[in-house]
Amino acid sequence: MISVDEALDRIFTRIPTPLPESVPLARAHKRVLLNPLLAKHTQPPFDASAMDGYAVRAAEVVPGKPVFLAGTSQAGQRFTGMMQSGECVRIFTGAPLPIGADAVIMQEQATADGNQVVFHKAPRPGQSIRRKGNDFTEGTELLPAGMSLTPAMLNLAASANYAELEVAKRPRLAVLATGDELVPPGSTLGPDQIVASNSYGLIPLLSSYAEKVVDLGIVRDDKKALEQSILGAFDYGVDVLLTSGGASVGERDYVQDVLRDLGVRLDFWKILMRPGKPLMFGTRGKTLVFGLPGNPISAFVTATVLVRPALRLMTGHTDPFFPFMGVPLAADLPPGGERRHFMRGKLNRNEIGFLEVTPIAETDSNHSSSLARADALIIQPEDSPGIPAGEIVEIIPLNMLG
Ligand code: AMP
Ligand code: MG
Repeated sequence: MISVDEALDRIFTRIPTPLPESVPLARAHKRVLLNPLLAKHTQPPFDASAMDGYAVRAAEVVPGKPVFLAGTSQAGQRFTGMMQSGECVRIFTGAPLPIGADAVIMQEQATADGNQVVFHKAPRPGQSIRRKGNDFTEGTELLPAGMSLTPAMLNLAASANYAELEVAKRPRLAVLATGDELVPPGSTLGPDQIVASNSYGLIPLLSSYAEKVVDLGIVRDDKKALEQSILGAFDYGVDVLLTSGGASVGERDYVQDVLRDLGVRLDFWKILMRPGKPLMFGTRGKTLVFGLPGNPISAFVTATVLVRPALRLMTGHTDPFFPFMGVPLAADLPPGGERRHFMRGKLNRNEIGFLEVTPIAETDSNHSSSLARADALIIQPEDSPGIPAGEIVEIIPLNMLG
């Protein structure tokens, strides 16, 4: 059996280099740039007013002394003349500063009467002006490669005049459930039947990292049927195949055999983690194959801990993990075993409003209701002697981040 870190390392070495594709800005949310984004122009492209008011020459303004109003500069339509000595120009937010002006006085500090304007206060030179290039200049690196594009980043890319962005292509995923006892949600349950739930958590957990997710449904514990379904996925050209169930070495656990028969090179099939010990990983050409355990918590947790980081790298993220999050424990953790434990936890605020995490005392890996209640996985390291309340533990947040 190998450690979680060793498993991640082995998976990461198999990640194909992401390929680029162009997508319209409106579809680029959460996609990842493969190259830094450079500004195509200078912003603002001209000196502009930051206020509604009057453009003036700062040195000439004397409070109370009338100044001649020579014209107007609107956003989108500048004052075309040259502002002469002793003149001012009506100006609006975002409008180009007239030639000859060096400050803007906001309208609240002025009184206009016909074409005469009186200012209440002398301005500082440069006052209320947004200088050309104040935001960015042509060629500036605006965004780094390797990060998920946020709404604010897309706003910036638009302002830098990009209609499309070159981002990493996303893989095509296929998800398959296997087990003779499984029936789809909504079925009338026969004796000994279980509702197949795994794919309904796995797909939304991972779909933002996928171009397309093919749900291969439920396949019987039958070698031929499994072979057919999995081969279909390979022939279709999926980049990542996830199976759940049938992954151990029970009499009717065929996944490992079938994968080998179909030419999958299995790298490992057991990991020192809890939940989720039986977890297969292998490759077939460029396709990554994960044989997840059948127990719903094990399937979900292994997908969170091992598959999602792999998909993050495949989709161009520089960091396979989310930023480190440490939170104080609200209750003692008992000593752990040799496997790294990903324990369900509930985030809450203590009496003084600080975030803390309360372990959920449920270790059954079939217990879906406690996973639904959890909003984090608490990571208890291998061979941990127990962790007292108040200590900071690392968590993987479950529902706050994509
Ligand atoms: P297995 O790995 O096939 O031995 O399955 C382990 C446990 O997980 C059994 O109790 C299965 O009934 C259950 N199980 C397997 N696949 C699913 C699934 N897709 N949804 C819910 N439970 C499942
Ligand atoms: Mg089974």
